[in-house]
Amino acid sequence: MIDVFAFNGYPVAVLGLGRSGLSAAKALHESGAEVWGWDDNEASRKIAAGMDIPLVDLNICDWSQCTTLVLSPGIPHTYPVPHPIAAAAREAKVEIICDIELLARSQRLSNYIGITGTNGKSTTTALIGHILLITGKQAEIGGNFGIPAMDLEPLSETDLYVLEMSSYQLELTVSLTYDFAVLLNISADHLERHGGMDGYIKAKKSVFHRQTYPRTAVIGVDDPFCEEIYVDLKAVDDQAIIPISGSKRVHGGVYVIDGVLIDDTEGQETTVVDLNTILSLPGVHNWQNAAAAYATTKAIGVQPHAIMACLQSYPGLVHRQEVVEIVDGVVFVNDSKATNTNATAKALVCYENIYWIVGGRSKEGGLEELSDHLSDVCHAFLIGESALEFSAFFDGNILTTMAGDLETAVGKAYQMAKQEGVSKPVVLLSPACASFDQFASFEARGDAFKKIVEALTGIHQDPFEEPNLFPIKRVPQSIGECA
Ligand code: ADP
Repeated sequence: MIDVFAFNGYPVAVLGLGRSGLSAAKALHESGAEVWGWDDNEASRKIAAGMDIPLVDLNICDWSQCTTLVLSPGIPHTYPVPHPIAAAAREAKVEIICDIELLARSQRLSNYIGITGTNGKSTTTALIGHILLITGKQAEIGGNFGIPAMDLEPLSETDLYVLEMSSYQLELTVSLTYDFAVLLNISADHLERHGGMDGYIKAKKSVFHRQTYPRTAVIGVDDPFCEEIYVDLKAVDDQAIIPISGSKRVHGGVYVIDGVLIDDTEGQETTVVDLNTILSLPGVHNWQNAAAAYATTKAIGVQPHAIMACLQSYPGLVHRQEVVEIVDGVVFVNDSKATNTNATAKALVCYENIYWIVGGRSKEGGLEELSDHLSDVCHAFLIGESALEFSAFFDGNILTTMAGDLETAVGKAYQMAKQEGVSKPVVLLSPACASFDQFASFEARGDAFKKIVEALTGIHQDPFEEPNLFPIKRVPQSIGECA
């Protein structure tokens, strides 16, 4: 746990007592701050009270007595409308920050790696953490993924915090300058929270704020938004910049062509490793993640051959194209974390003969991005409140069944996959939607999928003992180029 000494003796409001809020309130309380904890949800307040966290009703508090509000990043403070408590705090000129800012103010001398992007943040954070830990570096890994910031351990000045940063957290972290900042990609997501695409891009770009040499920016150049940011950064030339790509040659950068990772940071176009052999990193999108992890850890000082070995031993994350089980020859893949169309589009190109479970609470930005990736879908099973929207969108392009709930969808998909007798059929849960219409979280949705699969009658096989049945497709690439 982090000692938040700067707030010792001062009142600090904490709004949102979920996992990160509770951890922030606890750290502040134990560091001698006067905590004003609050959550609109009574059950959350009860849990906090059980942990001895003082509660103050922030709807009726005297903001003139408080200088700081630690806001749970899930709670809006600007768009679409600010939470009334955040609005009152802002009106009273109270600073609004998140738990990562508390970490930055408390662990000032350590080194920070911030990883952001619309998709691939957790995978890249986990990959970088895996490489650093295996190669003997002292690092703490968390933030938006895994361990909340205030539950990380204190580090010395030679050590590294590896932090997944959401756009919400970036907005509420005002004083952190990353030694290594990674921006993977940008596509439309969470637009309602940022007042549109411009606000979202601005939040993502802020991961590079205040960086000067030798601080390093690692930036994906596979989408037009990031490519533009790359060009801007290069023109200003404030920090070291390493462009990365999962699919095209980038001079002076790290990139992947047909699965082969190439390091051109020293102008030698050195071949590092064939990622096609790494089953835990399927698809061009994961090649982008691997390129970012390689570029970052090499810039930190890890030797390329050691990075290569670590990439090969990366175990993968649950709920991200997680191969769950093979039942009667049907492979079940849990990609519940694919909560937007971009993430799902990436998963759809990885397999042949897909029986696709899709739907939930759809997001702004439309479904267009999926339309170019439907050629390997044998049938789509529509679940959740978006079912009608998807059905209208797919009309005439692919066959669909209104399944309603996940259990029905898995049952129908499994039966159809067995009956149609195609080679290596995959039942893929990749919803392209948030889970909140039917589940508490994407984790709950993925866990439910796994439970339903476990209960299917049939011959179950462990996919790790049958790697030949892994249905990963080799993805041919057209080799573009980026200057
Ligand atoms: P995040 O933490 O940004 O949500 P994850 O690593 O958890 O990203 O991956 C979420 C989903 O996004 C995965 O299920 C996968 O389908 C997809 N994905 C992973 N990496 C990328 C990437 N670099 N670009 C696009 N999609 C990706």
